[in-house]
Amino acid sequence: MSETQRPVSSFITRTAPVFDTVDEERIHRLQRLAGVCRVFGHAGFSEGLLGHVTVRDPEHHDLLWANPMGVSFRRMRVSDLVQIDHDGRLRHGDRPVNPVGVLLHAAVHRARPDVVAVCHAHSTHGSAWSAFGRPVEPITQDTSVFFEQQAIITEPRVAMDAAQADRFAAAFGDKKVALQIGHGIFTTGTTIDEAAWWFLTMDRACQVQLLAQAAGEPERWPPELARGLAVGLGSPEFGWLSFQTVWDEIGESDPELFD
Ligand SMILES: [Zn+2]
Repeated sequence: MSETQRPVSSFITRTAPVFDTVDEERIHRLQRLAGVCRVFGHAGFSEGLLGHVTVRDPEHHDLLWANPMGVSFRRMRVSDLVQIDHDGRLRHGDRPVNPVGVLLHAAVHRARPDVVAVCHAHSTHGSAWSAFGRPVEPITQDTSVFFEQQAIITEPRVAMDAAQADRFAAAFGDKKVALQIGHGIFTTGTTIDEAAWWFLTMDRACQVQLLAQAAGEPERWPPELARGLAVGLGSPEFGWLSFQTVWDEIGESDPELFD
C-alpha cells in the first residue's frame, strides 16, 4: 500500500494520555494550560490584558482553570493559574481574571459538555479577518480543515452579562471555531492541546485568506473534498497530535513553566 493510500487515521502515532486519578489529570491540564499560554505569547498573540484560555477541571466539571489577567503569556507558570466557577468567582488563587472572558468561556463550557478547553486571544490575523464577518474559505488544505466548522457571531457584538454570553454560546453552536465580528477567533477542543492547535492554525488560515484575497480571486476546493479534509485532518486526534509538535519545543525544556 502506498503512502497516499493509507487512511488518515493510520498517521496518528501518539494519542492523548489517560490518567489513573483526577489529581494526575488536573496537574497535566494545568501544565498544558500554562504551556499553551507560553506558546501563544511566543506566537505574538499577546495584547496587554486581553486573551484567555480556560480548561475544565477533570473532577468538578462546573469549575474552570484560567490564566489570570496581568500576567504575561510568555511567563505563565502553573502557580499563576486560577480556578473559577461559571459565575467568575475565584475558587483557587487570588489574581483577577478578565470578567468578559470568563462570561464568554463559561457560557460555552456550560452549553457544551464535550468541550474541555476554550482558547481566545487578540491575534492579529484572526482579529483582522473577523472584521469581515465571514468564514475562512477552503482555498488551501489547511484552511479546508475549518470547512463548515466555523460559527460567525454577529450578535451579540459584546457580552457584558450572562444572558448575552448565553446568546454568544448559542450562536457558537456545536462548531469547532467561532469568529466574533470585529473581535477575533475562539476555538474549542476535547483536550486543551486540540483547542490550542485549532487556534494556532486558524490564525494562520486567516492570514492565508487575507493574503490570497488581497492578490486576487483564489480558487476554492470542491465542497466534497474540503469536507473530507475537515473530517480527516480536523479530527480531535489530529488536533491533539499536531499540537505535540509545538509542545515538544517548549515542554520539558522550560522547567520554570511547572513552578
Ligand atoms: Zn477578546
